[in-house]
Amino acid sequence: MLGRMQNRPLLISMLIEHAAQCHPAAEIVSRTSEGPIHHCTYADISRRSKQLANALTALGVANGDRIASLAWNGYRHMEMYFGVSGIGAVLHTINPRLFPEQIEYIANHAEDSFLFFDLGFLPLVESLAPQLKTIKGIVLMTDQAHMPANSKIPNLICYEDLLAAQSGEYEWPQFDENTASSLCYTSGTTGNPKGVLYSHRSTLLHSMLACTTDGLGLGTNETVMLIVPMFHANAWGMIYAGAMCGAKLVMPGAALDGASVYALMKDEGVTLALGVPTVWLMLFGHVDTNNLVPKNDLVLRRVLIGGSSAPRAMSERFETDFGAFVMHAWGMTEMSPLGTVCNLLPKHRDYNLSQRLDIQAKQGRAVFGVDMRICDDEGVVLPNDGKAFGHLMVRGPWIVDSYYRDDGGQVLDAEGYFDTGDVATIDPDGYMQITDRSKDVIKSGGEWISSIDLENAAVAHPSVQEAAVIGVAHSKWQERPLMIVVKKANQELDKTEILQFLEDKIVKWWMPDDVVFADALPHTATGKLLKTKLREQFKDYKFPTDV
Ligand code: AMP
Repeated sequence: MLGRMQNRPLLISMLIEHAAQCHPAAEIVSRTSEGPIHHCTYADISRRSKQLANALTALGVANGDRIASLAWNGYRHMEMYFGVSGIGAVLHTINPRLFPEQIEYIANHAEDSFLFFDLGFLPLVESLAPQLKTIKGIVLMTDQAHMPANSKIPNLICYEDLLAAQSGEYEWPQFDENTASSLCYTSGTTGNPKGVLYSHRSTLLHSMLACTTDGLGLGTNETVMLIVPMFHANAWGMIYAGAMCGAKLVMPGAALDGASVYALMKDEGVTLALGVPTVWLMLFGHVDTNNLVPKNDLVLRRVLIGGSSAPRAMSERFETDFGAFVMHAWGMTEMSPLGTVCNLLPKHRDYNLSQRLDIQAKQGRAVFGVDMRICDDEGVVLPNDGKAFGHLMVRGPWIVDSYYRDDGGQVLDAEGYFDTGDVATIDPDGYMQITDRSKDVIKSGGEWISSIDLENAAVAHPSVQEAAVIGVAHSKWQERPLMIVVKKANQELDKTEILQFLEDKIVKWWMPDDVVFADALPHTATGKLLKTKLREQFKDYKFPTDV
């Protein structure tokens, strides 16, 4: 017997329609590529995304066509989220920090038909345009006043002209909720990036989850700063979730330096900010250099950190200097991205700060909709005892089923679980803690050493800016940990001091066999440590202990 409820498809257009009706005056604030801070509302975004929908239709864009963007976080990019997906086309957000050859590969692989880009990427697009085989038109997301006089791009279209020619009236079409809505490529530290193709249904379900209290607790009363880029798993889904609940959104554009982020946070009364650890280090640097007192200047209540492990010291600093609670979260492009969020349980209410920070250092508990377990190399499920660590496997309605064009082939196991490539523990309360990427874990004498635990322990040292640990070949132990440290500016630090510092923080046999110092560490386009490069750099390294 079937239920007798309405079978309305879950479509992205519902989000902006709802925001326009129920939260028309809620604000969207953007730092623009042209310079000034721009203010508008969900009602404006709704009207302009309908103008964009009309424009795309007039350009001949059809169902399923891929429309690429090379853009920072801002209101025009947001209009694309609704205008492109709303008509049944697919928004392909490209990470502009990738190498130009990777961008070229991705745009050709996706067979993008139009490319929209921010002013700052003009030179990049001019050099790329001749290589983009399927592109029918290129749109510069600016107004007539900022259009270049002589661009090498033939028939370059001005975004504001494109919209101005169209009506703001548009009836969003109804179609199957499983229709593809957006496309995002993985960062691809090894091999070519692979495409993750989200659907309207997966996006809507993920947004609902983000708005729940034990998800991210997004709501109308929140002013949310999206420092995580809109080309990184759709800014962790926050554009959609923001429209669902009418949160005020603040978008920093290209200015992610500490001074710009701090000023925007202060001016706009940001209560919740989202970003990877690297951006927070830049913010801390600005606070230190200028002797600022964030608690006096800001009204920040919560900070969401994901993408890489949030060191305990970072959560502590947000708590003590900013008065903000750090919600550690974990996920991946393949998961839309939310998998776990580190919220506290009633039993933690009486914990002191130090005990609480131990919990917050974990990546958190699975949100509703995500089935999560750990397995050994043979696929045997391991216990949730907080000690056993194994391959982290997930399944759920906003988790990848297969990659775009079947790249990588079958990626689910017999029970429908996706191997995240992460290695983790899960404790009896369900808190998951990442100990490594499976390819980064250090295998010493048949046992596993967590490189992330060692890095987190090292960055707690006041003179350490950043640390990376990799496994290097050892004749007796197979691999041993090598720590590479970047010192903070004008700080003295040597190997003995750092090893002594680690002594009471890690088990004895995890102690790095050597520490070397570097001026900087290599990062991926999404701010993660690029360990493949470090392994390459140190492939001939010989430990002093290995005789
Ligand atoms: P991406 O698809 O670029 O978002 O990268 C996903 C990967 O980032 C995950 O598989 C993890 O290895 C890593 N990651 C994401 N969040 C965290 C976190 N909170 N702690 C540690 N690693 C994380």
